[in-house]
Amino acid sequence: MTTTQSTWPAVPDHDTTAATGPAAEQAVLDRVPRGLLIDGHWVDAADGATFDVVDPATGDVLARIADATPADGLRALDAADAARHGWATTPPRQRAEVLRRAFDLLQERREEFALLMTLEMGKPLAEARGEVTYGGEFLRWFSEEAVRIGGDHSTNPEGTGRAFVTHKPVGPALLITPWNFPLAMATRKVAPALAAGCTVVVKPAELTPLTTLLFADLLLEAGVPAGVVNVVPTTTAGDVCGPVIADPRLRKLSFTGSTPVGRTLLAQAAQNVLRTSMELGGNAPFLVFEDADLDLAVDAALAAKFRNTGQACTAANRFLVHEDVAAEFADRVTARVGAMRVGRGTEDGVAIGPLIDDRAVAKADRLVTDAVERGAVVRTGGHPVAGPGTFYAPTVLTDVQPGSAILDDEIFGPVLAIRTFRTEDEAVAAANDTEYGLIAYACTEDPARGQRLMETLETGMLGLNTGVVSNAAAPFGGVKQSGTGREGGAEGIAEYLETMYTLTPDPFRRTKGAQR
Ligand code: ADP
Repeated sequence: MTTTQSTWPAVPDHDTTAATGPAAEQAVLDRVPRGLLIDGHWVDAADGATFDVVDPATGDVLARIADATPADGLRALDAADAARHGWATTPPRQRAEVLRRAFDLLQERREEFALLMTLEMGKPLAEARGEVTYGGEFLRWFSEEAVRIGGDHSTNPEGTGRAFVTHKPVGPALLITPWNFPLAMATRKVAPALAAGCTVVVKPAELTPLTTLLFADLLLEAGVPAGVVNVVPTTTAGDVCGPVIADPRLRKLSFTGSTPVGRTLLAQAAQNVLRTSMELGGNAPFLVFEDADLDLAVDAALAAKFRNTGQACTAANRFLVHEDVAAEFADRVTARVGAMRVGRGTEDGVAIGPLIDDRAVAKADRLVTDAVERGAVVRTGGHPVAGPGTFYAPTVLTDVQPGSAILDDEIFGPVLAIRTFRTEDEAVAAANDTEYGLIAYACTEDPARGQRLMETLETGMLGLNTGVVSNAAAPFGGVKQSGTGREGGAEGIAEYLETMYTLTPDPFRRTKGAQR
């Protein structure tokens, strides 16, 4: 994979040639607000505390920002609650136009956002540009959905009454986002919430909060009223979110992150009977059948595995390849992976950026070491890369044996692990042998087999002969312990709406003296 192969939809005709280099980096960092956003104002934390945000490619401090306390979290909820009624009653067209303006502003400032994401998260700049495109589409899509919140009207089966089904904003929402897609994870939650008429408190990941702060500033410029969007970066997520989740004014929790944290949050949300949307971990199988188009399968495999340096919940985690084509598939992916350039995401031609931190490198290394001890063969890579920065070499493993931890744990790194199979039944059983069910990929030229897989694979999403499925217009989400709810598509706005049913007597029978 080269960096020109962005795995997101093509970038539209906006300037993509803006400068990189120290001056451009400092200029974008200077534009990032350093405070918490509460009720339309950038403010310090209640105790004045701050924390540093670091470039994972160099270890350098990028910015020092306010570190929210539990009191700040509740102040943010106060603001969201106070703004709740005004925003819910703002005409849908007006809410739509604010989101559309945000989309337009993001297009104008796309290079700034892309560079900032590369700085704080490490992804190659070409992929960061792709994320601006993808993340922006949630603003455009939900600006279009805001004016299509419909309902229903019917005569009841008995003919004695009229039923109305209407939809209302669920109320103030807490949105907790992860670090791997700093912009898209924010837009994917904020845009449908605002379109539906909900106010929000956003708790971005402490490793990558700068993009959310810059995005919040853009939302203010786009006309989002004070209190509608509040942002509280913090190093003490549990302490800050706990009281907000326990507060009866909160009505919705949307979370993207690990399954263990998701379980904890679901338990907390149960006390307050909150509506929840949970996008949790994955362990995506990637199936290559004997009838696959191998050119296509290799391209799809590399996109599904190495996008974001493997740090995506949709990343292919286990490659299950038919034994007849396994050797050729392994040779071809090894040649491509061995040629991938590793480096800081701002450098030309880099395909593999740093992992987010030391822990991520240690995890990738532990999983590879375990697999090798159990019999796997390292075809390329298989080791950390010397610093500065937290890099792991892009790796291909073959002959991965059952029982290896790499088949069960989410790798979240650039390691492509291959096992073989003989029959479709065996492949499907192996693919489903996990507590997760976010996404699966399959390459086959047999349409009937493709249709069978749609029914037999236990997954919320399936990439059939493709390595990237994410799209703002489609429902993203998982089954089993990969979560509940969907983001994007028509389903995405429904997560922020309550359904209300009203019954009235048959108006003809009710009118005094009226006879039918
Ligand atoms: P990852 O392993 O990808 O960092 P996490 O699930 O740890 O995923 O984190 C995802 C998001 O959840 C981050 O914003 C993080 O700060 C937040 N988070 C982690 N623990 C808690 C918690 N106990 N309560 C609320 N948010 C949390």
